Amino acid sequence: MSFVLSGKETASAIFENLRPRADAVTAAGHVPTLAVVRMGEKKSDLAYERGIRKHADMAGCSVVTDAFPQDVREDDLVSRIRELNEDETVDGILIFQPLPKQLDSHRVIEAVSAGKDVDGATDASRLFVYTGHGSGFAPCTAQSVIEILDYYGVALQGKHAVIVGRSMVVGKPLANLFLARNATVTVCHSKTENLASITRTADILVSATGHIGTLGGEHVSRDQYVLDVGINFGPDGKMTGDVLYDEVAPHVRALTPVPGGVGSVTTAVLFKHVVESAEARV
Ligand code: NAP
Repeated sequence: MSFVLSGKETASAIFENLRPRADAVTAAGHVPTLAVVRMGEKKSDLAYERGIRKHADMAGCSVVTDAFPQDVREDDLVSRIRELNEDETVDGILIFQPLPKQLDSHRVIEAVSAGKDVDGATDASRLFVYTGHGSGFAPCTAQSVIEILDYYGVALQGKHAVIVGRSMVVGKPLANLFLARNATVTVCHSKTENLASITRTADILVSATGHIGTLGGEHVSRDQYVLDVGINFGPDGKMTGDVLYDEVAPHVRALTPVPGGVGSVTTAVLFKHVVESAEARV
């Protein structure tokens, strides 16, 4: 039977480590600060913002919000982001996505300076993750997978990491984060043939597809660490991952639950990036 890779425990450890670092920056005269830029009043966005504020206290950071109407003009939004780039009191900028339809998302996101792109959303951050040069941050979800493995002391060097999903926010950056740790990486996607024959060879297996049941019993093997990035809602309305948990759990070494897994770590990583940015500023 497997053991649980707890995102909640990983996040607590990150916050515990962050607090004294944030306090040291504050003692030097600057409170690490995240600027949230939100358009409209979507329930899910407001809930996310409340979560961010709650966790900011745990991290010893401050949060300021710029709330724009859903029909905000693109030029107004971009000029506000540019002001935030110049604002010495702000260490990180998080633009809530998806952006309203009338906006050119790429232009808006690219307005964020790389040094303050704590969500890892800009092209500069991508280049940073892919090359290791320049400045920027890894996307929080991809980084969260690495944080969980680090928290549980899972060695990555020389191991075979198989990622199912090749999106720009999860699969591709995660492949680079694994490579930077000297893992051997295979990235699978919807056109991959014989998926199970590949996933069974993994030491570390990650699913980020957004489809319930991407990984079942036939996709896994003993001694594997399985990390489930998926956030899906079943017919009963309950949140569930990509992995068929009950089917997979008896056959692998360790597994993240959903909820309580990867998704629980992303806000902690966001504040880790804010504190790192603040430390570089004081
Ligand atoms: P996405 O952009 O839709 O990408 C999904 C990827 O999975 C694509 O590369 C797709 O292949 C692949 N795929 C889909 N079905 C597949 C299948 N049956 N077999 C193999 N590959 C398959 O999704 P995303 O934005 O990366 O998000 C993925 C999941 O992670 C979603 O459930 C999302 O809600 C969740 N997520 C969670 C967090 C968090 O904080 N935990 C953050 C972000 C996203 P193709 O490229 O061939 O289409």
